[in-house]
Amino acid sequence: MQQRVGEPEATRIKRMPVEEVLKEVHEEVEKQVRKRTSDLVKTNKELQIEITKLRKVEEALRESEEKFRSFVEEMNDGYCVIQGSTIVFANARIAEMFGYTQEEVIGKSILELLPSEIISELTEAHARRRRGEAVPPQYETVLTSKDGAARPVEFGARLVSYEGKPAASVVIRDITERKNAEAKLQQTMQDLARSNAELEQFAYVASHDLQEPLRMVTSFVQLLARRLEGKLDADSSEYIAYVVDGASRMQMLINDLLAFSRVGTRGSPFEVTDCEAALHGALTNVQLTIEDHDVVLTHDPLPTVMADGMQLVQLFQNLISNAIKFHGEERPRIHISAKQEGHEWGLSVRDNGIGIDPEYHERIFLIFQRLHGRAEYAGTGIGLAMCKRIVERHGGRIWVQSELGKGSTFYFTIPVAGGKES
Ligand code: ADP
Repeated sequence: MQQRVGEPEATRIKRMPVEEVLKEVHEEVEKQVRKRTSDLVKTNKELQIEITKLRKVEEALRESEEKFRSFVEEMNDGYCVIQGSTIVFANARIAEMFGYTQEEVIGKSILELLPSEIISELTEAHARRRRGEAVPPQYETVLTSKDGAARPVEFGARLVSYEGKPAASVVIRDITERKNAEAKLQQTMQDLARSNAELEQFAYVASHDLQEPLRMVTSFVQLLARRLEGKLDADSSEYIAYVVDGASRMQMLINDLLAFSRVGTRGSPFEVTDCEAALHGALTNVQLTIEDHDVVLTHDPLPTVMADGMQLVQLFQNLISNAIKFHGEERPRIHISAKQEGHEWGLSVRDNGIGIDPEYHERIFLIFQRLHGRAEYAGTGIGLAMCKRIVERHGGRIWVQSELGKGSTFYFTIPVAGGKES
């Protein structure tokens, strides 16, 4: 600082620090301003970042709302949001279901649109849900639109918050197609059951009525053979033997067919049946065969089920006879097991016989299907078809696990509580 002319020395000395102080103050202020500015710049930057974040969130929110709206608009189900009893949001589909335009339906009371009984049922379900009781999420009813068109629908409602206030979000699904398909299925099943019953009845009557003329053919040919014994040449005797053989085979087939058709038409009602007693019944019937083949037969403890006892005997008998008939080189060993699996009993008959190629595992259960010629193994091919019919009548399934040369295990199930007769 320059010294002014005529200024006393003392003042000059005093003024110097003031200017210094001022300078210092000025510098301090500048420093503070610089710091503030830099703070401000920093805060501003942070603010910008926050604003960008917020914009992104807003954008995402807007996009998600747009997506939601277009989804709701395009969905095939009716959708609305109800606050109190007023419809505050509705898609075009729900408006169409009620017979209104979308604009008309918004603001209307749901009480005007739904019949009072549906309202009270929905209210009741809602109250129960609030009390924490288990209520099925969907509710089926018939919806009638303004013009009187009725359609079966499924309602689903849940509590939501809409614009900050509690609301019910309601989805109404048109289930006309499902109901039609169900009705069609029901009709087809009824038709199938009727045609099955008719077929069984036919098989029964036909096989029953065929027995008589066949018996006549057999007995008269046998009579003829006896009369002409010694008078016929070798060829003629052979022909007669063929006729007798053919007729007796036909008799066997007809008898089997009759027995098969009886499973459905002449079965007894289901009763509490001890499987072990049924097994012993079957073993008594095949006792001679068991002894002839020196069979070793073992079994688990068997359960008590609801069944037609006679048919259960038949089932065990057919499976055990096959296990013996189709034995291998070794001494026949048969084991019968039982295991409860969920709501059904799984039983099985295991043997150490010739086994079955997996290619034929399904075919063998068809009527008259055999894998061997009559010369190899006797039989008509009805045994397993009969087993299948019996098991299915009891509401179970039957199948086989086997490989050629490695024995076979036939499995069947029976419902624990006793199936409905099918
Ligand atoms: P059938 O015994 O009169 O031939 P089934 O209906 O009882 O008629 O059996 C059909 C076919 O399934 C039999 O011809 C046989 O080839 C095969 N099969 C059935 N049970 C057994 C078994 N335990 N072991 C091997 N093959 C079997």
